[in-house]
Amino acid sequence: QKEEWRKLVHKPTVTEDGTHMILAANIGTPQDIASVLENGSQGIGLYRTEFLYMGRDQLPTEEEQFEAYRTVLESMAGKPVVVRTLDIGGDKELPYLNLSKELNPFLGLRAIRLCFVEERLFRIQLRALWRASVYGNLKVMFPMIATLDELRQAKAIFIEEKEKLQSEGTHVADRIEVGMMVETPSSAVMADLFAKEVDFFSIGTNDLIQYTMAADRMNENVSYLYQPYHPAILRLINHVIQAAHKEDKWVGVCGELAGDSIGIPLLLALGVDELSMSATSILPARSQIKNISKDKAASWKRDILHMKSMEEVVQYVKERLPK
Ligand code: PEP
Ligand code: MG
Repeated sequence: QKEEWRKLVHKPTVTEDGTHMILAANIGTPQDIASVLENGSQGIGLYRTEFLYMGRDQLPTEEEQFEAYRTVLESMAGKPVVVRTLDIGGDKELPYLNLSKELNPFLGLRAIRLCFVEERLFRIQLRALWRASVYGNLKVMFPMIATLDELRQAKAIFIEEKEKLQSEGTHVADRIEVGMMVETPSSAVMADLFAKEVDFFSIGTNDLIQYTMAADRMNENVSYLYQPYHPAILRLINHVIQAAHKEDKWVGVCGELAGDSIGIPLLLALGVDELSMSATSILPARSQIKNISKDKAASWKRDILHMKSMEEVVQYVKERLPK
């Protein structure tokens, strides 16, 4: 099986009936790139930048960040690289920021919310990204967006930093695609409106599942409710993809669902454009997709979206997967 997979390293990702998909990798640091290239990734779908900020006693400088982003962009040699701006808070803390303890950190000052409070930190990251933008195919997205105002504010700050750099005579890309994570139920429900104001969506199923089911993704007492293939989740994802496509925007999925053998056919059925996963899942995923007909998967959609439980969905998909 491993040998079969190796043969697909330099191949595109194509379904049995000829639909092309993009398989990208999730990374946390520039050191992850070696494995990304070895496994035939078609891009980076999620660069989690929190690791730049963690395990140290002060903020990373603009220069340090610029070097990290440039390294990743250059190594990917023109393939798309989606960088997510800082998603700290929740389970990840930064001791040097002196934030107050919260009763519900996952519902608290996390990700984009924290970036608005610590705006200087956010602006430094955006400057580093703009400066790196001339070294490859950079796309930027914001985490945990819940309201249109948040998206607009993040975009406005992003453009302000571009203009500042330009007025200082620094060379930056003409245009960078700007997207958002869809990982709050409110952004998924309002996707039709968000779609008019972004270039792309990346659905963060890890958080979307926990917030939709109201079940902490780390809490074993309620892990039975953390149901990745629950029809409630699939309906939301379907709505997001439909809304995006209506505005000619592309949709990726970068949560764990994107790399698993039940999630992949389901997402194919719903019409997703890109899947981003750990590098080692890419070749198995490409191999699985080669044997699935997109048309056939799409014909499951009606059934799946009307099911009553996750068990029904799983059984349905398993019965139809090529053996
Ligand atoms: C997600 O929420 O699905 C996601 C990809 O982001 P993270 O796991 O970093 O929260
Ligand atoms: Mg998330």
